[in-house]
Amino acid sequence: MAKFAEANARLFANIFVCKDCKTKFRAQQMKVLQGKIRCRNCKSKSLRPVRKK
Ligand SMILES: [Zn+2]
Repeated sequence: MAKFAEANARLFANIFVCKDCKTKFRAQQMKVLQGKIRCRNCKSKSLRPVRKK
């Protein structure tokens, strides 16, 4: 289970989804929280972490 958790963290930790156009992209969480990251498609700042469930 430990390995599974690590794999999950690697896959989902730094991935965010644009709420407007649903694009997934990798970004550092700190930068997203600071508002420095924008969607590369639509330049929106409304992002959410990919892990929703
Ligand atoms: Zn977007």
